[in-house]
Amino acid sequence: MAPSESRHASAPDTPATAPAVRVRDITKVFGRRPTEAVRRLAAGASRDDVREFGSAAVIDASFDVQPGEIFVVMGLSGSGKSTLIRMLNGLLEPTAGTVEIGGRTVTKAAPKEIRDIRRSSVSMVFQHFALLPHRTVIENVAYGLEVNGVEKSERLRKAREVIDLVGLDVWADAKPDELSGGMQQRVGIARALAAETDVLLMDEAFSALDPLIRREMQEQLVDLQQRLGKTIVFITHDLNEAMFLGDRIAVMRDGRIVQIGSPEDILTDPANDYVAQFVQDVDRARVLTASSVMEPARAVVPLTAGPRGALRVMRDLQTAAVFVTGRGRKLEGWVRDRHVMRQVKAGDTNLDAIVNTEFAQVAPDTALTDLFELAVESPLPIAVIDDEQRLLGVVPRVTLLAALGNVPTTTSPIQTLEPVTRISNDDLDETLAATTEGDHA
Ligand code: ADP
Ligand code: MG
Repeated sequence: MAPSESRHASAPDTPATAPAVRVRDITKVFGRRPTEAVRRLAAGASRDDVREFGSAAVIDASFDVQPGEIFVVMGLSGSGKSTLIRMLNGLLEPTAGTVEIGGRTVTKAAPKEIRDIRRSSVSMVFQHFALLPHRTVIENVAYGLEVNGVEKSERLRKAREVIDLVGLDVWADAKPDELSGGMQQRVGIARALAAETDVLLMDEAFSALDPLIRREMQEQLVDLQQRLGKTIVFITHDLNEAMFLGDRIAVMRDGRIVQIGSPEDILTDPANDYVAQFVQDVDRARVLTASSVMEPARAVVPLTAGPRGALRVMRDLQTAAVFVTGRGRKLEGWVRDRHVMRQVKAGDTNLDAIVNTEFAQVAPDTALTDLFELAVESPLPIAVIDDEQRLLGVVPRVTLLAALGNVPTTTSPIQTLEPVTRISNDDLDETLAATTEGDHA
């Protein structure tokens, strides 16, 4: 993913279309008297309270997933994630509540209807899924289409397309045992993609992979999602994975959803101690963006202020440099105190001539991790600019460090700032006084 393109900023918050997945008050109780358990749970009983009637795996879960969204369900082992996702495609029937996929009701649907929904609307990738050992990669990918009765040349064409997409093109004719674990997992994803369903359910799909391959797969999934616009419900017990992938995250505990929010919401405003505990050691730098930590820019002058105006602002703010904006409030660059002083002393009213156009600038949705990598030497904070090059705010390097709290030790984010050239008020007044005539000329 390009550094300046965090997807989190584009998480849908005002849905214009019908949800891709709609879940209302679903509860699943395994055991002898599920209905009685549901009745008591509805009356406020806890999971433990109803244990004699059954095991309440999911309790009263409700949420919508918008088309094109990556919705992550996160929780510790046993919190009910797999049970929840299996109710979405009708593998399990909820004890109470309803599920709709693309406007069609899955709950209590006839088996034929459920099969049809699975074929047309929702496919699933598991942590351990079986590839057919005697078939090639392409035949494995095309298998779902074959089952659905798609004609041979057509299914091979589609399979070839998604195999290219997941970067396995040269392996199309290999057998599964010739592939690494990561590549096998990609075949599983390709198979789900080949089905051309709008909704992809992924249950711990990357959990068996080693960390580097896992990160690569996460990046590839985000990339595929952006290109294909799939709606993805992704289950994980790994918080960093949830934070990386999720447009929104639902946190589950003991069968209940305890919070739903953007990664940033969950980090900065955990709903309770449980969530706070969970997010304590997340790599915040991957989640927070420039816009979430930026501050109003104070050291800014318009070009028209001239060297004298720039000098005044630097004196007021006790800084050694200021940003300079041009027409349409576009950020042109910055000027340094000693250059400005020189202009003032020379009686030159032109600020343009000394504007330095090298500075650290980022888009608002840039992840903090990427801010660390900005090596541009400037006494000014990092500028956050919009598409039109307008200055939205700044991220001082100290703010960056403070926002992170626990700074990853692998990076060395502290950059030495140039010592501020001190301009005393006396110096300045003297300079300004001495040049007053020149300025007016
Ligand atoms: P997760 O995927 O978050 O690890 P699960 O949904 O697999 O959680 O399990 C949630 C709870 O439901 C666990 O306590 C589990 O033992 C129980 N459970 C899951 N499936 C069944 C089943 N078929 N019969 C009885 N209990 C089950
Ligand atoms: Mg599970």
